[in-house]
Amino acid sequence: MAEILVLVDHADGAVRKPALELLTLARRIGEPSAVVLGAGAAAADIAAKAAEFGAAKVYVADAAEFADYLVVPKVDALTQIAKTAGAGAVLLTSSGEGKEIAARVALRLESGVITDAVDLEAGADGPIATQSVFAASFQVKSKISHGTPVITVKPNSAAPEAAPAAGAVENVTVDFTGKAAKVTSRTPRVSSGRPELTEAAIVVSGGRGVGAAEGFGVVEELADALGAAVGASRAAVDAGWYPHSNQVGQTGKQVSPQLYVAAGISGAIQHRAGMQTSKTIVAINKDAEAPIFELVDYGVVGDLFDVLPQLTGEVKARKG
Ligand code: FAD
Repeated sequence: MAEILVLVDHADGAVRKPALELLTLARRIGEPSAVVLGAGAAAADIAAKAAEFGAAKVYVADAAEFADYLVVPKVDALTQIAKTAGAGAVLLTSSGEGKEIAARVALRLESGVITDAVDLEAGADGPIATQSVFAASFQVKSKISHGTPVITVKPNSAAPEAAPAAGAVENVTVDFTGKAAKVTSRTPRVSSGRPELTEAAIVVSGGRGVGAAEGFGVVEELADALGAAVGASRAAVDAGWYPHSNQVGQTGKQVSPQLYVAAGISGAIQHRAGMQTSKTIVAINKDAEAPIFELVDYGVVGDLFDVLPQLTGEVKARKG
């Protein structure tokens, strides 16, 4: 069976959920091996978690370079491991960093890259990836026909399923190329206490319809009742009502949650580009003709300041 390398995203010593999703998907196309880079003392715990979700082997590399530089040391490590292992494919999370590493690794392996896959299946001669394009109007299936396929997968594309495997740890010493952009300072992100937007299972977003920064209060209350992340349209961000780091869309973040709630958002193509692959879409808009209603599974025509508090109350009541 082909060995499928999964680059394991981790933060604060813990495996991030998208990595468990990747390990679950990797089992469909071969035998997963996890790659854990720069985890320091947490590497053993991370390796154990990867094994719990199906990693037969866990490659561990630790060096100051992973923290001191941007993506190049990770590219060096992943390329080296892929070549040595003769990997059948390399899987990464579709984050900004994941996509940059993927493109560079594919170049070094002289193969190809597929980004933003939402599903993977085994093909006769390698993995077949599904992408959802043009406001989810088309599903495109494609494969890489030359070399080791490198594929990034959107968070929330699969439910993580445990499948305990050996998780044999192999420590790797990386030959760094030395050509890397050095990090000069880091500013810790101010945590909202909510899930990371791109990884959240539920996202509640507000648009120009919230009317003011204070209008996001009802959006945040529903998000907190649901344990969701908060998103915003560009109109709301440009108005200064919510930070750019929360913008969903073509020039913001791409999200693909189980549930996406759009409140006071018209549904412009550039907004859809960031949320069209959400599994279930709910919109609240007072204009019955708003384009967002072409896309939704459930639509509520009404004032968001009436509807959202009722929804929040209902969610809280059901939670007891
Ligand atoms: P509007 O289009 O003004 O819609 C507001 C909606 O709220 C309306 O449908 C209205 O009926 C409804 N509403 C008003 N009051 C209420 C109420 N009380 N209750 C319920 N509903 C109410 N946009 C993005 O979102 N993300 C991007 O990344 C992005 N990138 C872009 C990149 C480029 C190059 C360009 C040109 C544009 C981009 N845009 C992006 C902007 C995009 O074209 C739209 O302008 C934007 O998405 C509109 O935001 P909106 O839906 O919040 O506002």
